[in-house]
Amino acid sequence: MSWERDNIRRLEGYTSGEQPDDTDTIKLNTNENPWPPSPAVDAVLQSMDGEALRRYPPPTADAFRDLAARYHGIQRDNLIATRGGDELLRLVITTFVEPGQPIAMTDPTYSLYPVLAQIHDCPVVKVPLESDWSLDPAFIDTVVASGARLTLLVNPHAPSGQLVDVAQLREIAGALEGLLLIDEAYVDFIDPAIEYDSLGLLGEFDNVIILRTLSKGYSLAGLRFGYGIGAVGLIRPMLEKTRDSYNLDLVSQRIAEAALTDVAHARETWKKVREERERLGRSLRGLGFDVSPSHSNFLLARTPGGQSGAESLYRALKDRGILVRYFNEPRLVDKLRISVGTPDENDRLIAALEVLV
Ligand SMILES: *Cc1c(COP(=O)(O)O)cnc(C)c1O
Repeated sequence: MSWERDNIRRLEGYTSGEQPDDTDTIKLNTNENPWPPSPAVDAVLQSMDGEALRRYPPPTADAFRDLAARYHGIQRDNLIATRGGDELLRLVITTFVEPGQPIAMTDPTYSLYPVLAQIHDCPVVKVPLESDWSLDPAFIDTVVASGARLTLLVNPHAPSGQLVDVAQLREIAGALEGLLLIDEAYVDFIDPAIEYDSLGLLGEFDNVIILRTLSKGYSLAGLRFGYGIGAVGLIRPMLEKTRDSYNLDLVSQRIAEAALTDVAHARETWKKVREERERLGRSLRGLGFDVSPSHSNFLLARTPGGQSGAESLYRALKDRGILVRYFNEPRLVDKLRISVGTPDENDRLIAALEVLV
């Protein structure tokens, strides 16, 4: 017999992108930053020894919280550090949503959201995006009518790279009766000229939580470190009640602190990613791909061969040691999501595609 709860037995589980253990693969499938983290990170790794691990780590990562709060110009009380952005998502659901209450999201979206909702036994309300991946004009009405307790909005959007501006976020936050989580996993790659800054919403609304992560912008996906920003009334219950005691180990905390003391290094990588994003986009369009405008570190590209082309192209690239992401989902089956790599990696991808398409 199965001991699983009914909803867990019905659940499919989250499918991670492939994580090969060789270093030869050109890995453009899970949106890692292609440049290494700050040298300050290496310095921490080299400076630590086993004795440092004998004691428990700081329980709420206050040194990191102070650094991140200063970086954002907010108070430490408005910030919680978590084991990746993914832990924050789980905390928000288990702290603020009763099992059975609906959780709303766009379709498509980050494929972990529906899995986390189902683990908590919450119905999922999916609001389809328009064909250009912008929000449905009826998005707010649909979400309000559904009675959603929580709305999960990834911005810039994954997997398209589309950006919702702050005026629209303000409108949504003001109209929703539940909480709004703005998942800014890819925010660092937005062109600074756009002046996107959602943090001002915190002073205006007590129902907004912003998710950030070091996985993408700071080249630290292997570390597992993220954070949430919001009103004290939202942060405190997670910090004091629902978080795992010692959710962040000492090594992670020290490394995350080092990364945030050298944002200048990360910012250089964001600039290089934007430059390569433009260049890769141009090359893909030149080969007949239809590429959505992206504010992120990946491109969603419809393959010239249409529906029959995307999966076979994904496989042909894989045979040549190049991994990209293919989603077997209705609106994505004719597309590939390609993480922006280094100039050399992007050149090799384009060279392979020139032969294949
Ligand atoms: C990567 C990512 C996250 C957070 O990932 P962590 O590695 O757990 O910090 C959250 N949302 C989206 C859409 C992501 O792509």
